[in-house]
Amino acid sequence: RTAVVLFTRDLRVHDNPALAAACANADRVVPLFVLDPGLGELSPNRSRFLHQSLADLRSSLRERGGDLVLRVGDPVAETMTVARQAGATMLGLGADVTPYAKRRESHLRDRCGGERIALRLFPGVTIVDPGELRPSGGGDAYRIFTPYYRAWSGAKWRDEVATPRRITLPDIPVGRLPALPAGESPGAAAGGETEGRRRLTAWLEDIDAYAEKHDDLPGDGTSRLSPYLRFGCLSPLAVAEAAKAHGGEPFLRQLCWRDFYYQVAHAFPRIATEPFRPNANDEWRDDPEALKHWQDGLTGVPIVDAGLRQLRAEGWMHNRARLITAAFLTKHLGIDWRHGVRWFFRWLLDGDVPNNSGNWQWVAGTGNDTRPYRRFNPIRQAHRFDPNGDYVRRYVPELAGVRGPAVHEPWRIPDKVDYPGPLESHRDEAVWLRS
Ligand code: FAD
Repeated sequence: RTAVVLFTRDLRVHDNPALAAACANADRVVPLFVLDPGLGELSPNRSRFLHQSLADLRSSLRERGGDLVLRVGDPVAETMTVARQAGATMLGLGADVTPYAKRRESHLRDRCGGERIALRLFPGVTIVDPGELRPSGGGDAYRIFTPYYRAWSGAKWRDEVATPRRITLPDIPVGRLPALPAGESPGAAAGGETEGRRRLTAWLEDIDAYAEKHDDLPGDGTSRLSPYLRFGCLSPLAVAEAAKAHGGEPFLRQLCWRDFYYQVAHAFPRIATEPFRPNANDEWRDDPEALKHWQDGLTGVPIVDAGLRQLRAEGWMHNRARLITAAFLTKHLGIDWRHGVRWFFRWLLDGDVPNNSGNWQWVAGTGNDTRPYRRFNPIRQAHRFDPNGDYVRRYVPELAGVRGPAVHEPWRIPDKVDYPGPLESHRDEAVWLRS
């Protein structure tokens, strides 16, 4: 018997339920990845990370006697061609929540039905399956985090599956991995399961300090595991189990936010592009110039600019800076959160639909679990979370010579500092910011 395993968001050999089941139930296994040529344009950073992850996956599969079969093109058409060439009777893949993934699953189901191939979907993109936990009062999904966290913490998680020791590939051309794309951010992390596991091991040494340091912008005290979770180089369940074993309760709570948004996106796919609350105030200003200043990290508010420049430099941004920059775009500039979603989605290595749109809606006040009138004063945030100004100086070289927290309000410095003032087009708010 031959099985095809279609890798999508699970680029790993450890705790990979689809791969483990194929190895247990078939004599020959085709580990397959289909590169969708559209991704490179969507996000050069993620495209590079993906290629690195695929190269690493290929070498792990080769160490086990197998290989990664690579095709470029439409995932459904290519998968069916490979299944036919290999004489497969089974196709397994990880279940996913986005509309794109669900369309792919449903097309595969139709095609497999016609060709007498058994299609099986497996868990693994989240810790608890989206759709598994339902609010006790009824309804499709939890809309509020705290009760979800309670249910999630008490739920029985599945067991991790063993890493296959030996994989036998049928006689099939494996295909070349295209040249490594350039990416856009020089400081972006490198992809791959090996790198992800190395970082997880190192992180577990620091996890104790998370509660105290996770909001400290210059201290950089978060795990930076998000890109590895995004591509499934790390199993979220394996990360959660390891964190549990190290007593990392506050960190687990953050992992739960990820599961939370996945189950929201599963039940309410509109979260990607439509305000979750139908009556949310969703009227925005059209101001391309202000948007461009924001994107370029030239708003004139150093903490905002530092976050946006970290995004470009590293393809990643500290969560506190994501909150500050997102609130600045939506609450101060009054610009539509969907512009922010698109900009983050282009640059972020961890950019994904449920977390990106879910968090943007939370900040913009249009989301499921949100306080619509919350405002963030970026200057106060700057003094609180970057008290000595080191985060700003790290990412805004124009201000590297300003010492101490004065860097947060260059307009107050008596000697001339060569730095743009807060956005002209946003003068009233700028005055408010200075007050
Ligand atoms: P840690 O603090 O070490 O947390 C561990 C893990 O928990 C993260 O890797 C992540 O998987 C999860 N997590 C933490 N905070 C959140 C959160 N607020 N929501 C959901 N999951 C969370 N995260 C993404 O993975 N992809 C996105 O596209 C994304 N877009 C965001 C957009 C905005 C406007 C905001 C405010 C937040 C966004 N986040 C997104 C959430 C969060 O900022 C990142 O997950 C986190 O900064 C990743 O860094 P880390 O791995 O060091 O996190």
